[in-house]
Amino acid sequence: MFPFHGVDYLEFDGLLSDEEKLVRQTVREFVDREVLPQIEEWNREAKFPKHLVPLMAELGFFGANLRGYGCAEMSNVQYGLIMQELERGDSGLRSFVSVQGALVMYPIREYGSEEQRQRWLPLMQQGKAIGCFGLTEPDFGSNPGGMRTRARQNGDSYILNGEKAWITSGTIADVALVWARAQDGIRGFLVEKGTPGFTSKDIKGKWSLRASVTSTLALQDVLVPATNMLPGVKGLKGPLSCLTQARYGIGWGAIGAAMACYNEALEYAKARKQFDEKPIASHQMIQAKFADMITEITKAQLLALQVGRLKDQGRAEPAHVSMLKRNNVKIALDIARSARDILGANGVADEYPIFRHMCNLESVYTYEGTHNIHTLVIGERVTGIAAYK
Ligand SMILES: Cc1cc2nc3c(=O)[nH]c(=O)nc-3n(C[C@H](O)[C@H](O)[C@H](O)COP(=O)(O)OP(=O)(O)OC[C@H]3O[C@@H](n4cnc5c(N)ncnc54)[C@H](O)[C@@H]3O)c2cc1C
Repeated sequence: MFPFHGVDYLEFDGLLSDEEKLVRQTVREFVDREVLPQIEEWNREAKFPKHLVPLMAELGFFGANLRGYGCAEMSNVQYGLIMQELERGDSGLRSFVSVQGALVMYPIREYGSEEQRQRWLPLMQQGKAIGCFGLTEPDFGSNPGGMRTRARQNGDSYILNGEKAWITSGTIADVALVWARAQDGIRGFLVEKGTPGFTSKDIKGKWSLRASVTSTLALQDVLVPATNMLPGVKGLKGPLSCLTQARYGIGWGAIGAAMACYNEALEYAKARKQFDEKPIASHQMIQAKFADMITEITKAQLLALQVGRLKDQGRAEPAHVSMLKRNNVKIALDIARSARDILGANGVADEYPIFRHMCNLESVYTYEGTHNIHTLVIGERVTGIAAYK
């Protein structure tokens, strides 16, 4: 793997404050030191590097843009830069941090009771408790509104029944935020590990996000106190608002994966010689690929920064975040595929990071709203007509 010194074609760094650059540099060094030397091994072994959780907690990664309860209270742009650098390491690691902060801590902070916040947020910020987010079901992915998981009230408790699929961190989580249909609409329940009737199992055989745990959750007559329900939100807007937070981080994260692939392919192309001892970087068709890649990375950076600045002013809308996630993941996947091609046969080997990023990005393209679904969100925003059905 070649050293990485950032990708900045259009003086993007001039748009960042010193504080933002410092956050980015800290995470960059963490990834260089703690992740890159071993990531290919973890990826081969399908092993989540759990030992990094306390280190990441110490650096303030979990719930970094949330207020209070021990969180780092960073801006949304700083948070985005953390996601970018983490995903330059691996999308699986970034996924873990996204789920912990944006999909579990955020809803507890936003919709939880004071007791739930006090109980979980400091623990999760310190990495002493891990969370997962159970929305998707085997038969309901893009359309979570069809969910079959039910919560039936029984005095001061609820009884949960159902099944969740493709849940990041499922088997390692201390608490699952399970979305279920109750009598008054979809509600979020905090289900603790070890609650009778609640089980989880890892999904084996993934070719993508191998350094991340993905699981199924089963709930069979799981009794949870009514105080475990998030009191502050009802209906699909609960889970969807969490997804907007996570998708925002993904939009930045994808840039990290794209930069890693671009950097690797560029250094490789300058060193690799074919035909008359000329570097392959001297060929026009290879240069055309780099011109496309760097243009798309630059556009992605500007898009992420603008959405981040709007978010910091409280003006980012879900449809803005859809454009960010849709565009940046798509260009990252395209860049990974081009970079893979530039490395020739070496591009399929895990001596280089590109194929791993490419496989990871296939999941990122699908989760948190597929590319198609974000297309429809943007379509709805500009036409005023929802075309999902
Ligand atoms: C590694 C990984 C981790 C994940 N982690 C989590 C997690 O932590 N928590 C969680 O709840 N979920 C998680 N997911 C699930 C993820 O969010 C879903 O896979 C995603 O929402 C898509 O659902 P689906 O797989 O059922 O695909 P489907 O909804 O069946 O879609 C299949 C295809 O049909 C297209 N499609 C569907 N409806 C339409 C339409 N109306 N118009 C046009 N095209 C359409 C889709 O775009 C897609 O191309 C994870 C998934 C993966 C792969």
